[in-house]
Amino acid sequence: MKSADKIKIKINKKNKNKGNENKKNKKDKIKEINNIIKNQNGYVFTGLTAIMIVSFMIIAILMLNVVIELNKNSSDSIDSNSFNYLIEDYNKNIAILGRTTIEKITNETINSYTPAYDASDMIEKELEEKLNEVNEELMENQAINIETDVLSVYNGEDPYHINVKTLVIAKKGNFSYNNVVESKIAIDGLKDPLPFLMCRNNPTLTENGTKIAYGNSLKSYLDDCGLDNADGYLNASSPLIIKKCPYDPYENHGYGHTMKNCIDNSYYHESADGSCYLCRLEGKCGCGHYGLETFIIPNKIAIEDYNNGNFKDKGISASDHVIFNEQYPGNSLVFYKNNGFYEFLFLDDSHRAKYGLSDLSVV
Ligand SMILES: [Zn+2]
Ligand SMILES: [Zn+2]
Repeated sequence: MKSADKIKIKINKKNKNKGNENKKNKKDKIKEINNIIKNQNGYVFTGLTAIMIVSFMIIAILMLNVVIELNKNSSDSIDSNSFNYLIEDYNKNIAILGRTTIEKITNETINSYTPAYDASDMIEKELEEKLNEVNEELMENQAINIETDVLSVYNGEDPYHINVKTLVIAKKGNFSYNNVVESKIAIDGLKDPLPFLMCRNNPTLTENGTKIAYGNSLKSYLDDCGLDNADGYLNASSPLIIKKCPYDPYENHGYGHTMKNCIDNSYYHESADGSCYLCRLEGKCGCGHYGLETFIIPNKIAIEDYNNGNFKDKGISASDHVIFNEQYPGNSLVFYKNNGFYEFLFLDDSHRAKYGLSDLSVV
């Protein structure tokens, strides 16, 4: 072999070796790059996961807040509703307690024959006491703070009602109420205290749950007043319980047996001259308020006695405000005839006209 060829071969070998080295380096670099890429992928995945977790947590927190807010709102509205219901019930209860209070004062007045010194004021004070008891119970049982002030007790638009104005201030948590509550109290079904107070000097009158039997108490009262024919009211009777007469207009009393039905059912009538219920409690038989009147009916009389002159045709007119207050006379008016007896009353012309009785004839 020539030396030149040897040199070529050496060079070729060298080159070959160099080529191998290059290949190796390239492979290493690729490996390195792959590793880097692998590592970077790891970082990328870790970063993405973290972002996803954080996002998820934020969403979860937001959703939780929404749920909590919804729950809070709904529980707020439940509380608000129950507060409103409670106040509504409370206000309705004022009228019920007001009625109980009036009834209690009426019964005390009747049983003691002592007029109320100031009926409105008495009702105000007693109702306030009752409300304060209720307020204490509500504080204990429902943690609701209620303060009340009964501002006034006065006649309603019609004489069958009494009105009460009460200031109600209530507070529970975030809820509060402040209002003047007007209650309309029906006196229908309560006893009439006036006859008991007027006959207190000779209190022989009795009641049977629906009517008052005067015995000799009314005769005695009229005698004390020095009036004619007080005897005409011996054993008289009148309604005990306030009951509104349904025969309206009142002129209808002259039709058929309407007057008899009105008397038997013990009805009361509206009257500008009759006293209102509050004044009745004070023993006033006439007042400036628009009030009530009822009839006081003499004991029935045997037709025989009526006709044979054993009977005085004139007596104090039957309306209670006339008997206890104005005391003017009226002639007898028979409104029913049965079993040999007349049922009658003494009635003046103006009351006959009011009730359509001017031409009543049952004889
Ligand atoms: Zn009537
Ligand atoms: Zn009055």
